[in-house]
Amino acid sequence: MRILGFKRKRYSQWLMVLREEGGRLTLGDWTRLVILALIGLTNKEKGVGFSGKMLRCHRCLLFDREKKKCGEGDVGCGCYMPFKIALGGDCWANEQGVEEDGVGWNFGGTPLQ
Ligand code: SF4
Repeated sequence: MRILGFKRKRYSQWLMVLREEGGRLTLGDWTRLVILALIGLTNKEKGVGFSGKMLRCHRCLLFDREKKKCGEGDVGCGCYMPFKIALGGDCWANEQGVEEDGVGWNFGGTPLQ
């Protein structure tokens, strides 16, 4: 069974990441998270380019493949990437202007639109 296009397992993974990162989130982060979740409720699809963006995260050195999470500590946003991408979120490295080999959606190819 899928909920908003995602397997139920993705929601338990997301909750695990949220528990880990919850202490790092500011009030502004929580506000954005709620707004994005409300936007996501109206979207039944994962969005154009979802698979390509997830593939690029899987190739990134910061990506935690088991938890599907971006980075750890001060390096990476700590986001659960399937939901961040589905809700229109960008790559943390792109947002921060990080230009390191092996990091980010633009690594090893043309910039992702
Ligand atoms: S830095 Fe970008 S590519 Fe790497 S895990 Fe985070 S969002 Fe994905």
